[in-house]
Amino acid sequence: MTALIIILALAALAIIWIVTDKSRTAKKRQQVASIPFPHEWRMILRKNLPFFYKIPADLQLQLKDKMQIFLAEKQFVGREGQQITDEVRVTIAAQACLLLLNRNTDFYPFLKTVIVYPAAFITRHNNYQAGGIQSNEPRVLLGESWNRGQVILSWRDSASGGADFEDGHNLVIHEFAHQLDGESGVTNGAPPLNKDQSYSQWSAVLSAEFNTLQSQARNGQESFLDKYGATNPAEFFAVSSEVFFERPKEFKHLHPNLFNQLKEYYKVDPAEW
Ligand SMILES: [Zn+2]
Repeated sequence: MTALIIILALAALAIIWIVTDKSRTAKKRQQVASIPFPHEWRMILRKNLPFFYKIPADLQLQLKDKMQIFLAEKQFVGREGQQITDEVRVTIAAQACLLLLNRNTDFYPFLKTVIVYPAAFITRHNNYQAGGIQSNEPRVLLGESWNRGQVILSWRDSASGGADFEDGHNLVIHEFAHQLDGESGVTNGAPPLNKDQSYSQWSAVLSAEFNTLQSQARNGQESFLDKYGATNPAEFFAVSSEVFFERPKEFKHLHPNLFNQLKEYYKVDPAEW
């Protein structure tokens, strides 16, 4: 009996701790977002991120608030001589926070550090391939996203992705879409959906579109979505997210069901920007 009372008391304390911790975080975020957006950062948006001035004014304000919170919470680390300047931080944050607009978000809760290389970098991990083959051949990458708290980016490609927001390729959006995907515990193309979304619809639409892209890739046919998306469902979600923001009008016209699922998920409609 005493043991039960102690367990119940500890559980109650844990709940109180979690609730007060959440409200402390919310209050802190409110304070950070209320600080005026630095003039220098606005100049960086103007110079490096032309898309910023195309999105509606209310979303511009929201994006700036989210960037301030993101930049207050995430650590940036440079590798191979890459300096971490405000230009690097702001340029990456603006693209990463686009994925958080209008959403009930906890700001990439698993992410602690953004690691930035000057350009493409080499990694050597165990790669599991079809048939269970394992290799640790070095690979040249532009970016990577890890569930254990890191996103790794090439600065050159993060900057060029922000500068050209119409080619359908965006490294930062791609890697941060993987982060959102991983919030479910596994990175598999099924991120935790919003309350008003249906998992069965999401799965039906994305599976059908993924299968189509796979067969287009196998048969060497033309496709609107980059063939890299045919690698697996996680890459399919990341590649689809890139074109959702960068080529929304064509996307909506060519893949209306997939576009609608992403529109419900991201809670914005870039086709109207
Ligand atoms: Zn990827």
